[in-house]
Amino acid sequence: MEEAKLAHVLVVAFPSQGHVNPVLRLAKRLASKGLLVTFSSTEEAGLMMRKATDNKASTSIPIGKGKMRFEFFSDDHDLNDPNHTDLDALMERLEKNGPKAMADLIDRQAKEGRPVSCVITNPFLPWALDVATDAGIQAGLLWVQSCAVFTAYYHYCNDPTIKYPATLESEISVELPGMPVLAPADIPSFMLETNPYKSLTDVIVNQFKNIKKASWVLVESFMELERPIIEALEGKASLLPIGPLLKSLQDVESNTIRGDLWKSADCIEWLDSHEPGSVVYVSLGSVVVLDKEQLEEMAWGIKNSGRKFLWVVRPAPNENETGLPEWFLKETAERGMVVPWCPQDEVLLHPSVACFFTHCGWNSSMESLCSGVPVVGFPQWGDQVTNAKFLADVFGVGVRVKADRGSLASREEVERCISEVVGGPRAEEMKKMAMKWKEAAAEAVSVGGSSDRNIQAVVDDVKQKAA
Ligand code: UDP
Repeated sequence: MEEAKLAHVLVVAFPSQGHVNPVLRLAKRLASKGLLVTFSSTEEAGLMMRKATDNKASTSIPIGKGKMRFEFFSDDHDLNDPNHTDLDALMERLEKNGPKAMADLIDRQAKEGRPVSCVITNPFLPWALDVATDAGIQAGLLWVQSCAVFTAYYHYCNDPTIKYPATLESEISVELPGMPVLAPADIPSFMLETNPYKSLTDVIVNQFKNIKKASWVLVESFMELERPIIEALEGKASLLPIGPLLKSLQDVESNTIRGDLWKSADCIEWLDSHEPGSVVYVSLGSVVVLDKEQLEEMAWGIKNSGRKFLWVVRPAPNENETGLPEWFLKETAERGMVVPWCPQDEVLLHPSVACFFTHCGWNSSMESLCSGVPVVGFPQWGDQVTNAKFLADVFGVGVRVKADRGSLASREEVERCISEVVGGPRAEEMKKMAMKWKEAAAEAVSVGGSSDRNIQAVVDDVKQKAA
């Protein structure tokens, strides 16, 4: 169908990998159901995506019955500024320059003959919701964390009767509707007084200020995974689970465009050369950087496990080196591969992967669940700790490395956890649970499944309002 005849949705992503991926997946999913979808983020994210994807993020791509295109906006940002990775500065720039840039972008779409009829944004960009509703455009949110974490933040911001612990040492644990009891170590760390990332606490609180303006709060989760939590929120905030978005795309696309901000190393061939269920995949996502001492303990633990491994190690911002000890690279070259970035979704589906040693970012958690891969959870901060609690104790797919936040996880503990998930007495049970979630995820996104029905309702609503 002609571009101008399709209802047009603008989706806006906060410029970090953990937000770009689910928002881009949502864009593809909506396009596959017959909408014109423009994916948008900052110019810096656009530059990185184009570089990583051989410029694919600059073309118009037909997907299923619809189409996808890209528009990046300036947040007035000097890439040569040595502080350009500073989060506080980024948030300030976005808040100052984002609203006008977004309003201009929306105006331009109308002038070019494809008026925007709906905006779906990240809660990390609360002003985008205001820009859309001020322009009289329907708006929605995509919550990119779990419903459990939504509940924890929601009550933190709206319910003064619930007491939250101030520190990890606190005796207070938190009971929230539909959730297991959370100890201080299971509560998103941005809620503790000891949290050093104050700007993130502000962002989290701000997310709820104008949430009522959203026609829907879509969530990257699925009903069967978090039912008691979603049901307990009814009447307070109504969440519409539409995930796992990655799983929902496996039938409609053959990698139309990936959302990577860095170029992936070629590791699939290396995985092909290994036995099924023999490789530990290790990755702590796009933001976590371990200090030298912890990195060394991890290296020892991985080496001592005796397992084959694929390890994604990100250099610290503005550095080129991974910081991995030389001895490790030399001594494990025969049975391991270290890369700066990989196509994680493909890696997790590879038959040679036995388990995922993960920081438990929500995308990584969902990708693991929908690929049937058990996990060793090694959360560092934020929502990761809550996700780790759920992966181990509620979803039953793994174990959590024992290390109090901020303290060291020993090499023995790293080795013990890998051995437990790969070959320990509970390994089979964890794999069985992981396979159960994989099937449930596939069902949720298949035609008529719980997530598919929810996203179809959104698409129908958008089409009807645009008609
Ligand atoms: N990812 C990837 N390649 C890597 C490491 C991570 O493609 O080498 C992707 C991963 O699949 C996920 C995202 O990056 O979609 C990371 O998001 P997550 O929420 O897990 O963690 P964050 O990076 O936000 O801490």
